[in-house]
Amino acid sequence: MSLIEEKMKQLPESIAITETGITIVWDKKNSFIYPFKYLRLQCSCAGCVEEMTGKKILDVKTVLDNIIAVDFLEVGRYAIQILWSDGHQTGIYPFEFLKKLAENDQAVMRIK
Ligand SMILES: [Zn+2]
Repeated sequence: MSLIEEKMKQLPESIAITETGITIVWDKKNSFIYPFKYLRLQCSCAGCVEEMTGKKILDVKTVLDNIIAVDFLEVGRYAIQILWSDGHQTGIYPFEFLKKLAENDQAVMRIK
């Protein structure tokens, strides 16, 4: 387990829709902005990813650059479900998945 994963084992301290994306504070030292369009493209629901093969079926061109998250719900204690401005709302984003994105993908911006 990497250092950042160890520090981020717990649930987020806060989740908020901010100007450019969804901001997640994992703890005092780890806060990240997940840009809206980037996060929309990570959707892994059955409408965006083929369940049997894991193949992406979401047509990237159909996602507008100005898409925003309108609202989100916490799902149990393991994920958030996001309502997008294009009406899409079936995607569940597990916290573990969001942590991995923060750790591995430069598109997720660390904020100080
Ligand atoms: Zn989806």
